[in-house]
Amino acid sequence: MSQISTQKRIATQELVNWLDATLNASSFKDYCPNGLQVEGKSTIGHIVCGVTASQALLEYAVASKADAVLVHHGWFWKNENPCIRGPKRRRLALTLEHQLNLLAYHLPLDAHPLLGNNAQLAQVLGLQPERHPDGTPVTCGPDRLIWLGTCSSANLQELGTTITNALQRTATVVGNLQQTVQRVAWCTGGAQGMMEAAIAAGADVYITGEASEPNFHLAQETGVGFIAAGHHATERYGVRALGAAIADAFGIQVEFKDIDNPI
Ligand SMILES: [Zn+2]
Repeated sequence: MSQISTQKRIATQELVNWLDATLNASSFKDYCPNGLQVEGKSTIGHIVCGVTASQALLEYAVASKADAVLVHHGWFWKNENPCIRGPKRRRLALTLEHQLNLLAYHLPLDAHPLLGNNAQLAQVLGLQPERHPDGTPVTCGPDRLIWLGTCSSANLQELGTTITNALQRTATVVGNLQQTVQRVAWCTGGAQGMMEAAIAAGADVYITGEASEPNFHLAQETGVGFIAAGHHATERYGVRALGAAIADAFGIQVEFKDIDNPI
């Protein structure tokens, strides 16, 4: 039996409308366009989800005969060189040649209260988000992207070990390993520059994806622990959850492809 001939398909525009509405995409001021970044086939029966629209993910999607690629990190970032050359030309050429739709959601996918990266990372790490009476998360920092909550770890060392085990990647832990971690702040990805907002919000520890040199000194001088758990590793879970929600809503084939990235 051919899977292609029996595969359910939906209109590309119907999926785009659903994603835009579900993620409230128009309410974000972002560094890239959110939504359908490259238009491909007019109907979609098979989606490959991943963290970044890299050449490797696109090649996987082509080999899988997918109609669309759905990612957290798409293309066309603010301040990037707009010329279509080198790796950028190769990615775009492959996408157009195979009529792949490229769907990308950046900040809307970080922030979503259930499907978002911060919400999903909390589940993976066993963090308990603090929520307002209406269920919305308690947040702080620029664009209110940092979440606040609690964890069950006794101290910073134990929390670091929990994260390393959950993400299968050695976390960088900075601070007094024996300090208690009652109040936890977290923001997935490259949010190391927001550590001061987490400190101002009263966090005992701040978890993000990447680290920069100043994070070490801030941790030393404030007594607030800092954990860098990987940009890619902390941002796998939002797009995976979004893909599962699409499969539930439309009954089309959706798969999450994790292409490992140590950063
Ligand atoms: Zn990111």
